[in-house]
Parts: sequence; structure tokens; C-alpha cells
Amino acid sequence: MATALKIYFTDIYRALYTVAVGLKLTFLHLFTPSVTIQYPDVKLKLPERARNRLYVNIDDCIGCDQCSMACPVDCITIQTIKSTPDVDLGTTSGGNKKRLYVSQFDIDIAKCCYCGLCVYPCPTECIVMTDVYEFAEFDRQNLLYNFSSMTPAEITVAKEKAKKAEEEAAAKKAAAAAAPKPPAAPGTPPPAAPTTPGT
Ligand code: SF4
Ligand code: SF4
Repeated sequence: MATALKIYFTDIYRALYTVAVGLKLTFLHLFTPSVTIQYPDVKLKLPERARNRLYVNIDDCIGCDQCSMACPVDCITIQTIKSTPDVDLGTTSGGNKKRLYVSQFDIDIAKCCYCGLCVYPCPTECIVMTDVYEFAEFDRQNLLYNFSSMTPAEITVAKEKAKKAEEEAAAKKAAAAAAPKPPAAPGTPPPAAPTTPGT
């Protein structure tokens, strides 16, 4: 009888001891400051130079294509149209003269690897990394960002004007080439006869 009682109380002691050992760590954490935050209500401060979503200030873009050429995954697509002499596209905020319409400036952010290589070569510093990192989408198409501010009608007009200007320039060049040469001034030596190699 005494042995049975002893085993009974020993078991109770072991059970309580095991629970106490198991909860020791939990108990200690009741008095330790929390390292987690209540995201998304609370957000951590981003590190300096964090790389997130890209933004293009299209008003400052001169269409030089340097960002696109630097991109290792070809996720930037740029199309430009030459402006004609009668059009003044103005200057960027840094004073660079704008000579090209930027008819298309797309970034497929789904392909972007956030390397930041497009940001550094930009001469007008108009393509930048923002602090936006929450931009998940259900539809992949929504990750194709269009930054050009030109409407389809404006693009058509600009293309037609550029084409006309090109044709006029080509016609002028052809007319100049076909025009008769003015007679040589008296006393001017005749042009030298072409020499045959080896003679
Ligand atoms: S961050 Fe890198 S991958 Fe993304 S658009 Fe710029 S160059 Fe391309
Ligand atoms: S490098 Fe800058 S200015 Fe040149 S096309 Fe890209 S965003 Fe525009």
C-alpha cells in the first residue's frame, strides 16, 4: 500500500516538474520585449537606399534610352519620336533640352529584379526607386506600368509630322545633289585626272 502511494505521488511530482520545465521559456518570454510588429498596421522603417517599386517622372525624361540599355532583364520598353523644328518640347527641371517625344515608356515590374541598374545612368535622374513595396496584383497585366503621357492621337500626329519632316529633308538633299555645279573661276586648275593604282 505504502509503495503504491509513493509511486502515485512521484508521478504527480514528475508531471508537475515536466510542465514547469516546458513552460519555463514561455514564462520568461512574458517579460521579454517583443521583436515582432503588428504588420500591416505597424511597418518597419526601410533601410537607406532600399530598392522597391520604380517611378519615372516622364516630364523630365529625354528619351535617351540609357535606362533601358542598362536593364539586364529587358523589362523597360521605350519608343521615341523626333520632334520637328516648329515644336518646342521645353526643358527638363534640370535644364536639359527635350528633343524627342517619349511615346512609350513601359516597365514590366513583374520581370524587374530591383537591381537598380536603370537608375544610375539616367542623365536627368527621372527614374527612381520609391519606398513603395506593397503592390501585389491578382492580374499580371496590372504590373505593366505605362509612364508615357501621350495619347494615341498625339502619337499619330507626332509620327506624321516627323515622317513629313524626314521626307522634306530627303527631298532637299536630293535636289542639292542634282543641282548643276557652278562653273570654275578663271585660273582655277582643272581637277586632277583619277590615278590608276599600280601605274
Ligand atoms: S531595377 Fe534592374 S531589372 Fe528593374 S527595371 Fe531597373 S535595371 Fe531593369
Ligand atoms: S535614362 Fe532617364 S532620361 Fe533616359 S530614357 Fe531613361 S528615364 Fe528617360
